[in-house]
Amino acid sequence: MYSTKAYAARAANSPLGPFSFDRREPMPNDIQLDILYCGVCHSDLHTVRDEWGGTTYPCVPGHEIVGRVVKAGRDVKNFREGDLAAVGCMVDSCRTCDNCRADLEQFCDKGVVFTYNSKDEHTGGITYGGYSKSIVVDQHFVLRISDKLDLAATAPLLCAGITTYSPLRHWKVGKGQKVGVVGLGGLGHMGVKFANAFGARVVLFTTSPGKTDDALRLGAHEVVISKNDAEMKKHEKSFDFILDTVSAQHDLNAYLSLLKRDGTLTLVGAPPEAIPIEAFSLIHRRRQLAGSLIGGIAETQEMLDFCAGRGITCDIEMISIDKINEAYERMLKSDVKYRFVIDLATL
Ligand code: NAP
Ligand code: ZN
Ligand code: ZN
Repeated sequence: MYSTKAYAARAANSPLGPFSFDRREPMPNDIQLDILYCGVCHSDLHTVRDEWGGTTYPCVPGHEIVGRVVKAGRDVKNFREGDLAAVGCMVDSCRTCDNCRADLEQFCDKGVVFTYNSKDEHTGGITYGGYSKSIVVDQHFVLRISDKLDLAATAPLLCAGITTYSPLRHWKVGKGQKVGVVGLGGLGHMGVKFANAFGARVVLFTTSPGKTDDALRLGAHEVVISKNDAEMKKHEKSFDFILDTVSAQHDLNAYLSLLKRDGTLTLVGAPPEAIPIEAFSLIHRRRQLAGSLIGGIAETQEMLDFCAGRGITCDIEMISIDKINEAYERMLKSDVKYRFVIDLATL
C-alpha cells in the first residue's frame, strides 16, 4: 500500500476538503497512474450529497481521469511506464457474465465496480476516484488516448463523451434524422458534437437563453428555449430521437410529444426524483422511452479513437482543486462552459 493525496467529502452536507488514503501496490495486471486531470461530472455532485442514496463517506469522487503510467505490472500488455492513459467510470467487473462478454461491463450481472463509491475487494473498503494524485487500475479498464489532443479537454470524454456517444450509436442516429439534445451541460455539449458528427439535424433544448450562440457553435442547427411553449409546439411530432441529459426534475411528457411515430426519448440524465409519465404520451405514435448507462470499455476506446480522428474534445474550464466546492455551486446554476476539469498539479 502507498499513500495518496486527495479531496474528499466527509458527509452529505459538508464541503470537500483535503484527505489522504492508501492505494494498493500494482499487481501483475495493474497499471498505476499519476493523475494529471480529472473532469467534474454532475454524478460526482449527486453522489457527494447523497442525492441518490447509498453514498459511503469519506467520498473521493472523479471518473474522468487522464494520467501518465508510472508502473505497469508484469502481465500488462498495452501500456508501459511513461505512456498517457485514461480511466473512466468503471475499474472492474466479473468479465465472465453475458453482459461482460458482450463488452457491456457497465451492466455486469455480478455488479460492476465503479471508480468511486463501490465496494473495493482489494482494500475491503470502497473505491476512491480521480480527485486524487494517483490511481491503480486493472489493465482491462485503462484506455488509450491521443497525445495530439489537449489532455485536459480529453478527460471529460471518459464519462460525458461515452455517455452520449453510446446511445447515439445504439439508436443509430445519423444522416436524414432530426435529433434533439436536452440540456447544454457537460453531457449535452458532447451530445450536440457527436450528433452533428454523425450527420443528424441537431436541435438543442435549453433553459438558458444565453447558451444559444455556443450551442450553434458546438454543432446545433437550431436552438429551442424549452420554457417557451410556442417554440416547443412548433416541433411537435417531428423528432426521430431525443437524448435527455437534464440533472433535475423536468417535464418528460413535453419532450415525448415532440417525437414522431416510433421515435425514442432516451434518458441519460439521472434526476434523483421520480418523474411522472402520462400513458398517452407513449401510446400515441407508439413512442418509446429508454435509458442508457455510460458505455462498455471497447466502445469507450472506439469513442476515444473517433475523437482523435476527428479532433473532437470537450469545451472546458480548468480549475484548481481548492475551487471544487465553488464549481459544484456553479454547476447547480447551469453556469459551466461546459465542463470543469481539475488540474491535479494543484493538489
Ligand atoms: P450538468 O453539466 O450540470 O448539465 C445538466 C444540464 O441540465 C444543465 O446545464 C442545464 O442545461 C440542464 N438543467 C439543469 N437543471 C435543470 C432543470 N431544473 N430543468 C431543466 N434543465 C435543467 O450535468 P452533467 O454532468 O452533464 O450530467 C447530467 C446528468 O446526467 C446528471 O444527472 C448526471 O448524474 C447524469 N449522468 C448520467 C450518466 C449515465 O451513464 N446515464 C453518466 C454521467 C452523468 P441548460 O442550461 O441548457 O438548460
Ligand atoms: Zn460522470
Ligand atoms: Zn460481469
